[in-house]
Amino acid sequence: MIDLKDFEFDELTEYLKSIGEPKFRAAQIFSWLYRGAKSYGEMTDISKKTREKLEKETYVSTLKIREKYVSKLDGTVKYLFELPDGNCIESVVMRYRHGLTICISSQVGCRMGCRFCASTIGGLYRNLTAGEILNQVIFAQKDIGERISNIVIMGIGEPLDNYDNIIKFLHNVNNEKGLNIGLRHITLSTCGVVPGIYDLAKENLPITLTISLHAPSDEIRDTIMPINHKYKISELIEACKNYFKATGRRISFEYSLIHGVNDSAEHAAELARLIKGMGAHVNLIPVNKVEEREYEKGSKKEINAFRDKLISLGVNATVRRELGSDISASCGQLRKRVL
Ligand code: SAH
Repeated sequence: MIDLKDFEFDELTEYLKSIGEPKFRAAQIFSWLYRGAKSYGEMTDISKKTREKLEKETYVSTLKIREKYVSKLDGTVKYLFELPDGNCIESVVMRYRHGLTICISSQVGCRMGCRFCASTIGGLYRNLTAGEILNQVIFAQKDIGERISNIVIMGIGEPLDNYDNIIKFLHNVNNEKGLNIGLRHITLSTCGVVPGIYDLAKENLPITLTISLHAPSDEIRDTIMPINHKYKISELIEACKNYFKATGRRISFEYSLIHGVNDSAEHAAELARLIKGMGAHVNLIPVNKVEEREYEKGSKKEINAFRDKLISLGVNATVRRELGSDISASCGQLRKRVL
């Protein structure tokens, strides 16, 4: 059985043609799917005969809200979604002045093994399909009843380890007949899958690429991010420069500050030297405590000192504001609890 949301618009049009349906049917169905219809039965302007034809080979996929938490402090909403096979993923909707932003998952689990991250603890279960990635946006938006205008692919999983489905998702979420979310309003975060960064540069998609760097040297990065054994920092930076050259889109970097590991003034200076001339923005994230991990964040003063050191060296850096602190659980922790 085919999930209709795994089709791009043109593929849907082709498919409908192959079962004898007129061209306009695609836009009709696309619009129902992206508004969160849960079955063909809801598509009231489509004849029973057509619906029956569709039901022979295809279905409308859904996501069940298994748990939902709303922050009393800032309105952040955290979802634990259950997939049809019983697996769970997390998505978070944050309220910013410029609109609602959703943080979505790209895989069930993750095989990248970053030492500080909760999502990777049980390894990779499976990739999400394009439809499952999309459903997080569709059903969160439907549940909240307000338009989601921005997406960050920073939930569970490594998006460039599920490349084809992520690309299909990007095309679909951007399609004006569906959710119509601008590519410039979408950020993809990667731990540094270098070949994927080269491939992405060729896709002609003006999204924002952000790199989870977290260390200024191979010596440190090797100890916290296993991907660094495969692709060294110099190769990663080379790929970023190529991305900028090919797309004209500036890269940004995420840097989790881990006390005593990567947060000294010398580390800040090393980081500034590494990314000099790239015009890149650095997002500093005080590391979130994960039960199974020994890493701790520094004090507010130390965190601000790191930021100020970067700024004094000409690097554009900010400390990420913590949202939804009362509903706890940075990504991966809810899912881990129900496993
Ligand atoms: N796999 C992708 C996207 C998911 S993780 C990536 O690695 O970029 C989203 C961001 O949260 C990454 O920068 C990741 O390194 C970071 N992160 C994971 N666990 C964290 C923790 N405990 N504290 C702070 N940041 C964390």
